[in-house]
Formats: sequence, structure tokens, C-alpha cells
Amino acid sequence: MIDPFGRAITYLRVSVTDRCDLRCVYCMAEDMTFLPKADLLSLEELERVCSAFVDLGVRKLRITGGEPLVRKNVLGLFENLGRHLKSGALDELTLTTNGNRLPEYADALRAAGVKRVNVSLDSLDSGRFKDITRWGDHGKVLNGIRAAKAAGLKIKINTVAMRGVNEDEFNDLVAWCGDEGFDLVFIETMPMGDIDGDRTDQYLPLSLVRANLSQRWTLDSIADNTGGPARYTRCAETGGRVGFITPMTHNFCESCNRVRLTCTGTLYMCLGQDDAADLRAPMRASEGNELLNQAIREAITRKPKGHDFIIDRRHNKPAVGRHMSVTGG
Ligand code: SAM
Ligand code: SF4
Repeated sequence: MIDPFGRAITYLRVSVTDRCDLRCVYCMAEDMTFLPKADLLSLEELERVCSAFVDLGVRKLRITGGEPLVRKNVLGLFENLGRHLKSGALDELTLTTNGNRLPEYADALRAAGVKRVNVSLDSLDSGRFKDITRWGDHGKVLNGIRAAKAAGLKIKINTVAMRGVNEDEFNDLVAWCGDEGFDLVFIETMPMGDIDGDRTDQYLPLSLVRANLSQRWTLDSIADNTGGPARYTRCAETGGRVGFITPMTHNFCESCNRVRLTCTGTLYMCLGQDDAADLRAPMRASEGNELLNQAIREAITRKPKGHDFIIDRRHNKPAVGRHMSVTGG
């Protein structure tokens, strides 16, 4: 699948639920209204859409949410999608998680063919972690990370950089990830969905973060080989990789190879735009995949050049109304 700007679409992110067992301040309001369960695609339907994308050339699947591991029986989805890894049709099956449930799931995910996992961790301090996630238990998440490591999963830590919240910990995070053998990726806050606070206060450009880190660490730019929007560096002192996802300060759209499916079967061709295609109706219209494939191909012809995120005092409304937990981070 090639989009109008010549980009090959080889990566699908799938949000399997918009629900979550945490309430991170930058992501959700505390009192969220979630989709009625009846609107969700069944796990069988999610598998069918994912498999259609694999047939059309997708090589990498990331399961996300919301919190993917709160979806009942989600392991079955991983196990069934694992067959595409075995056949060679898929290069990678992976997930992004808050880590809460990794103690129960890590071994089974590894057995299903998952090799890498992204875990979100914004602080190494348990009190602060609680403030950021509202409902989180730091010890539980650290146990989850340990379980994933013990299961042989490669780990990438995602840290949202927030002004005045966790910026004094970035050196410690680089050191800790280096010691543990984890990649670390910093993310800028993106204006998605209403939250209780004001994102202009939280927004911290990663150009600044990188400049500050460079006073302590030697960060050498390296070629990105993960197919994602992160720009990677190698930290000479720890040997670990440190990446920066800068949707706000750097246009990461030109090499975008991905599209995103929500748990209701809506396909978003861009994280930062509202245009979308419904795949649920064509999928349910027949048992074969002809209509579904047609709808997917048509959607790809509408993939926009890029997003128009902007955060400043004059634009303090979210750029897109939906939360990150709907389209999946
Ligand atoms: N619940 C899982 C987790 O937290 O990893 C997966 C879904 S979460 C929406 C995926 C990623 O998006 C997380 O790393 C999270 O920190 C990030 N995220 C959520 N809302 C964001 C926002 N408004 N701006 C930037 N990153 C955000
Ligand atoms: Fe949940 Fe992930 Fe959003 Fe935090 S970032 S509230 S863990 S979906």
C-alpha cells in the first residue's frame, strides 16, 4: 500500500480498548466516559482486520490502547496474530503498555512471539509516579518491567517530558535505563483530547531536554532503524539508546509509514487529523474480505501529508478532540 506521498504503509497500530486502569494527567481526565462495550470490535473482528492489513503488506503490528492488557482475553489476540510471525508475513508483533499487568502477562506474550515491549514510565519516584498517573502503583509497574525483562522481552521506556513535573529526573532515567539495558524515548505532550489541566503549562520542547542532557551525557545521533518517528542517539557513557519523539518541534511526518485502528474499527490515517474511514461496516457486510480490503485501500489514498499540532497560549484547545487512548499512542 503506497499513499499519495509515496510512503509505503507497513505499520498498523491497533487500539484494542479505550479503557485504562490508570489516569495519566496528560492523557485522560480523571472522570472519563468510555465507549459502551457493545461498540467495540470483538477480538475475532480485530484479528480479522489485522490479518487483512497483513495480507495487504503491513509488516509490523503494535497493540495499544487505552491499556491493551485490561481488555479481557487479549492474550488470545496475540496468540492468534502470532501465526503471521511464524509464516513470515509479519516482522514484528508488539505492544505499548503501562506495565501494570506485565507480571501476569510477560511470559505468555513472549511465548506468543512478542519480542519487544514499550512501557510508559514518567518517573522513578513513587510519589511523583502516583501524582502523574493518579491511580498508579510504582512498585507494581517496576515489577511488571522486571517480569518483562526476565521473560526475555526487550524493553523501551516511554517518558512524557513535562515541564516542572519530571524534568529534574531525566538524567536519572538515562542512567537507570543504561544500567538495565533498556532503550529510553522521550515524548512531547501532544494536544489530544480534553484533560483536567492546561497542556501549555506541561509542554516542554525536547530540543531543550536534549540540550540539557548533553551537558552530562555524550549523545551521538544514530540512524533510526525502528521505523518509528523517534530520532535516536547512543549514549556513550551508558551504551544505551536515547530517543526523542518531537511531534511539536520537528515534523516527523515525511517518513510516516503507519495508520491507526481504533477499537470500534475506525481507521485514522494520521494521529493528528480527524479524517477517518469506517472499516467495521465493510467488514461486517460480508464474510469475505473484498469490501474490507477495498475500504482499506481507499482510506490509504486519503492519508494526509502531516499533522498541524500546535501548543501555545492562543491555541489552548486540543488540536484533535479525541484522546490519545482512542487512537493509541
Ligand atoms: N496505556 C498504554 C501506555 O500508557 O503505555 C498505551 C497507550 S498510551 C495512550 C501510549 C503512549 O502515549 C504512552 O507512552 C503515553 O505516555 C503517551 N501519551 C498519552 N497521551 C499523550 C499526550 N497527550 N501527549 C503525548 N503522549 C501521550
Ligand atoms: Fe492509561 Fe496509557 Fe493514557 Fe496513562 S497514557 S492514562 S496508562 S492510556
